[in-house]
Amino acid sequence: MISLASIGSGSAGNAILIRANGTCILVDNGFTLRETRRRLATLSVDAEEIDAIVVTHEHGDHLSGVGPFARKYKTPVWMTHGTWRACRDKKLPDIHLFHAHQGFTIGDVSLEPFPMPHDAAESCQFVFRAGKHRVATLTDLGCTTRYMEEHLHGLDGLLIECNYDADMLRNGPYGEYLQARIRGSWGHLDNVQAAAFARKVDGPGLQKILLGHLSEKNNTPDAVTRTFNEHAPELAGKTAILAQDFASDWFCFD
Ligand SMILES: [Zn+2]
Ligand SMILES: [Zn+2]
Repeated sequence: MISLASIGSGSAGNAILIRANGTCILVDNGFTLRETRRRLATLSVDAEEIDAIVVTHEHGDHLSGVGPFARKYKTPVWMTHGTWRACRDKKLPDIHLFHAHQGFTIGDVSLEPFPMPHDAAESCQFVFRAGKHRVATLTDLGCTTRYMEEHLHGLDGLLIECNYDADMLRNGPYGEYLQARIRGSWGHLDNVQAAAFARKVDGPGLQKILLGHLSEKNNTPDAVTRTFNEHAPELAGKTAILAQDFASDWFCFD
């Protein structure tokens, strides 16, 4: 069995937990130490139980809470060489660098990173595998590719980004430049792109599709639900939207 929980998901901060047997991995942390501990408690996890922190990229909503947590609990941190180069916080107690195409193992979990088209130094997302069960994260990317489709075939669980609603972005508070950056191939996925990709990797084994990283300014859970109902109605029973302000439940795949 492999389990996934969101500590919080959205443009204001991201962190995910992956658990299999005795291993517990924190993926990113964009929350303060106090907030992280508070949310971990709602998932019945002690900070000391976390075996490693894996970082997807250097943006603040993923990295800001990594250093404080790692220093406090002496947690090993894993990231790509490029992310490390771009990471301003170099005072991490135990750093492990990897290549975005090279798999590695932490305890009972195998991690298969794959690179992302995103405006970061060397960002990646992961397939996490324990036994025959696989779950993947796919956030912070401007477009999806055929490689991702093939790589994410036959998953048990998927967490995918629904960053923005195209109309809300166009009519929202962001200026031209920032809008273009978000919309571009190195930016973020909108709700329609996420729905289209989720349909492509859907299969009989895919139990749950978690919709996350919603922009506070350019998206709402209602807009996500509307888009999925329209573009991927067959997935309605499988999806759940992750919140920014509180942790999710545990999602277990077995
Ligand atoms: Zn992000
Ligand atoms: Zn990012």
